Amino acid sequence: MIPPENSYLDRLFTIGITAVPGATHLKSRDFSLLIKKAKELPALSEASGKKIMTGFHHTAILGLADKIVGAVKSGKIRHFFLVGGCDGAKPGRNYYTEFAERIPKDCVILTLACGKYRFNKLDFGAIEGIPRLIDIGQCNNAYSAIQVAIALAKVFNCSVNELPLTLVLSWFEQKAVAILLTLLYLGIKGIRVGPTPPAFITPNVLKVIQEKFDLKLITTADEDLKQVLSK
Ligand code: SF4
Repeated sequence: MIPPENSYLDRLFTIGITAVPGATHLKSRDFSLLIKKAKELPALSEASGKKIMTGFHHTAILGLADKIVGAVKSGKIRHFFLVGGCDGAKPGRNYYTEFAERIPKDCVILTLACGKYRFNKLDFGAIEGIPRLIDIGQCNNAYSAIQVAIALAKVFNCSVNELPLTLVLSWFEQKAVAILLTLLYLGIKGIRVGPTPPAFITPNVLKVIQEKFDLKLITTADEDLKQVLSK
């Protein structure tokens, strides 16, 4: 876990086996201290800044299926990029912002999980009324992304691996690794992962995953985009 800023400590409560030094631990699931604190605090002020649409469930995206398929068939949408995964503090994660920014205007970006917060307030515009950035939600919504991919594969009468779709993932937490393993289990090939491979991916494991699933490590945004779009 990433320790929260100390400025949150007077409003941070834990229960059960969790604990954070300096935060209040609630015993016997007695929430009275938390409720008291919540009542003392002022109401949230009206949020300011840019508003964005987030968390498209697969049913919402598939509601656009006819439009999306039409745009692909007419060449208005060339490729889909799923840019998903964790954020983290280590250097190298600016790759994902650069990557999203450099994706050509005739491609759609699907986002998933925490890494998107680095770039999802940028203005990516739309293609024929279809937003160029469609956020599917948190990492737990990887299920929705898989459903979208399966549905598109059905419509185009091909396999998910044959779709004009590339997955570019960033990892940090165990949950993201579980999602990566799920994608491999489903036979998804050609996934790019970075900024560094998860620790359990030793050189030998990497070799096997690369051979079987064509997993790639990210290089630079320009180089990776060039490779994907030249196919
Ligand atoms: S596992 Fe999910 S919630 Fe945790 S950092 Fe990664 S994307 Fe965010």
